[in-house]
Amino acid sequence: MPDQRHTLVATARQMTAAGLNRGTAGNLSVRVGGGRAGFLITPTGMDYEVLEADDIVFMHLDGRSEGRRKPSSEWRFHRDLYVGRTEAGAILHAHSPFATSLACLRRDIPAFHYMIARFGGDSLRCADYATFGTQELSDAVLLAMAARRGCLLGNHGMLVFGDDLEQALALGVELEVLCEQYWRACQLGEPVLLDAAEMATVLGKFASYGQQA
Ligand code: 13P
Ligand code: ZN
Repeated sequence: MPDQRHTLVATARQMTAAGLNRGTAGNLSVRVGGGRAGFLITPTGMDYEVLEADDIVFMHLDGRSEGRRKPSSEWRFHRDLYVGRTEAGAILHAHSPFATSLACLRRDIPAFHYMIARFGGDSLRCADYATFGTQELSDAVLLAMAARRGCLLGNHGMLVFGDDLEQALALGVELEVLCEQYWRACQLGEPVLLDAAEMATVLGKFASYGQQA
């Protein structure tokens, strides 16, 4: 079975293949449980194609890092989400084209499609802008992520978390798809929004949707 470092590198490469990443924008992490409370995160500024498992950085929850590379400049929002949201198992941040374009308008994405509920509520919020890598950005992210598994980052990009790396990647792709659909719908007019009662119904259905067992 591949260890968490290898799975992290493989998933980071899939971010590029899925069109979520270009160049060195974005970052990815996974929670490490058991006796080693902390998380593994991609190093800052490195192309995922050349990443090796030993380039992945281990971080303690107090912000100390271990490894031959410097951690992602965004380790603060990864750390603060792992501390504040115990259900977060893996976190993906990207500057994917449609999510980032909408984030530059600093608008929340409303319930124009029922799949918005996949992220925990009836909207995807856009976090206020703050300089990348700062505690101020992390604070804005945690506010936008309240009761959500995804958000936009004003004038910057997007962020999701999942139970594990596989789910984080799937949600990252889903968020980008929704942003593309919202973008396209807005080209044609004003999308019709689903009301709160319908979104509550959908949220209820998602509690058991797609479970084969
Ligand atoms: P890192 O290369 O430091 O992870 O930064 C990329 C990024 O997206 C900053 O917001
Ligand atoms: Zn970024």
